[in-house]
Amino acid sequence: MGYDGPSAIVLSVGSELLVGETVDTNAAFLGRRLRELGITLLEVRQLPDDRSVLADAIRTARGAAPLVLITGGLGPTHDDLTREGLADALGEDLAADPILEAEVRDRFRSHGSMPAVNLRQALRIPSAEAVPNPIGSAPGWWVDRDGVVTVAMPGVPSEMRRMFDEQVAARLAARVGAAALHVRTIKTFGLGESAVADRLGTVLSEPGDGVLAGIYARDDGVHLRFSTRGDPATLDAVAEHA
Ligand code: AMP
Ligand code: MG
Repeated sequence: MGYDGPSAIVLSVGSELLVGETVDTNAAFLGRRLRELGITLLEVRQLPDDRSVLADAIRTARGAAPLVLITGGLGPTHDDLTREGLADALGEDLAADPILEAEVRDRFRSHGSMPAVNLRQALRIPSAEAVPNPIGSAPGWWVDRDGVVTVAMPGVPSEMRRMFDEQVAARLAARVGAAALHVRTIKTFGLGESAVADRLGTVLSEPGDGVLAGIYARDDGVHLRFSTRGDPATLDAVAEHA
């Protein structure tokens, strides 16, 4: 793509995703948000609730991108193993964090007694910083180690979205020094994809310095998409020629 800015990999954790029981809307949400933040999403992987598969996938992702976003697998029950997988990938041990434990207990005070399994959500590895979850019981984790940021967020879409928008997005942008992406879309109709491409010639293949061009056949016609992380005014010039 000719762009070497900050990049990320998304890992969606949950065996239910692999059997088509749940659609991976978290990855789609993160894809949109990362684009807005100027971070290139390189890959999305859907992974089963399996400790060693998760550890391997996290290790691989951390070797391939400076930013790894994980959703799911932070629930209280034995089948949610993201904490364990991340601990294994980093070679760290899980231990109960007394502050998190007090918060988990507090959350349950109003609903009577706390199921013992919920204490799993108070576990932390030394390099993880807890990310508060104001609408659920599982805190997220922000792990900044060896030059790679790994963020673990809950699988419940409403909890994940709120955590990302309120706490993770600004931190990521500051951490990776991302520049916002400016986008112009031109919609055409009545012509096929190759006919549109033919008429445009080099506007598509060489749109100009720092500008990426894409052509997409959609239900309502062929769309042209020009984007840049530089001066948005360059897009006006390109659109003029298109
Ligand atoms: P978990 O955090 O893994 O316990 O997941 C909690 C709930 O969120 C379950 O109902 C999951 O099916 C749902 N969920 C988990 N991951 C995703 C995802 N990537 N997209 C949409 N829903 C999800
Ligand atoms: Mg799960």
